[in-house]
Amino acid sequence: MQKRALGKTGLQVSVLGFGGFHLVEIVSAEAARLLGAYLDQGGNYIETAAGYGNGISEAKIGKAISHRRTEYVLATKSAERTRQGLLRELDRSLCNLKTDHVDVMFVHAVQTLEDVDQVLAPGGALEGAMEARQAGKLRFLAISGHGRPDALLAAVKRRDFDVLMTGFNYYDRFNFPAVEGELLPLCRQRGVGVIAMKSLADGYLYKSPEPALRYALSLPVATVAAGINSAAMLETDLGIVSRFTPMSEAEKEELYRTAPELGSYICRLCGKCRTADFDPQKVFLLEGVFDRQMDDMRVTDTARYALQERLKHWLAQTELAKTEYEALAGKVDASKDYGALSALCPYGIDVDRKLKIAHGKLSREPYLA
Ligand code: SF4
Repeated sequence: MQKRALGKTGLQVSVLGFGGFHLVEIVSAEAARLLGAYLDQGGNYIETAAGYGNGISEAKIGKAISHRRTEYVLATKSAERTRQGLLRELDRSLCNLKTDHVDVMFVHAVQTLEDVDQVLAPGGALEGAMEARQAGKLRFLAISGHGRPDALLAAVKRRDFDVLMTGFNYYDRFNFPAVEGELLPLCRQRGVGVIAMKSLADGYLYKSPEPALRYALSLPVATVAAGINSAAMLETDLGIVSRFTPMSEAEKEELYRTAPELGSYICRLCGKCRTADFDPQKVFLLEGVFDRQMDDMRVTDTARYALQERLKHWLAQTELAKTEYEALAGKVDASKDYGALSALCPYGIDVDRKLKIAHGKLSREPYLA
């Protein structure tokens, strides 16, 4: 399998990484078969977290493949915020993983600026990770988070992390454009190795695995950590990476235009409906933070609706979106007709209706029309 450099770490990681979250959903014997097959096919990046099933994912990995420990780069994560908490949890992780060290250790789920202050403070989780590195229990310091990347940007500017992981997919690129626009260039500039997760947008793009994986791998990331819980899924992903070619810009534009998950509701941030005194994009960007623009107030497919309901607030940034909308200069006037802007949208979005829906979400004024 093709391998790429993981920033300045000196590690080479396979383009398909094995995300361990979904190992909690299957029995140990099946987990062992999948992990063994992944290694046999040339995969070498396996990641998990102390919190996945409260150590169950780690224990399944340890039981299944610790005898092949030299064949893979191993990463785990801790959402502890203090030095002591991280050190205690890492010891449990090493025991579960049946190894004396992990290669990459993530300070995990760093979502807010308060989280950044906590983990970087004296006595914080990063201090614990540095101490563990000194003791040979981990090799590289890493950070991970989801959604709009304000916290990750702040953390990378303040400290010298080796590796960063966050979501990259062709759906959320329109909800959190700073991930590709600011965070990725900053990491490249600082030599931080980038690992992509959520290439299927938490499963929302499950009908489109090939364009989704291909899109993520076309970015300057080292590997895509894909959640795998069946032989069929592993086979599909292995097939996709084996025939991978980078997407051209024209192919990406075509994907943005035709992807069914984007449809005629997700704002592609093209700016064509902007007027001299009002910019709908600013409202839609906050709608993206609020619920990833998932709730379009139409139920055309119950399975999709159920999936949207499960995923839309998962990143837990709704309050941030509402607070920023309160302060936004160009708010929506719910009594105004914005119909003329709809004709300007090349993606067929009913801009008037969408503006009023977004306003309802962000201001607690329900859209009733
Ligand atoms: S024209 Fe459509 S896609 Fe472009 S910014 Fe406006 S709503 Fe978004």
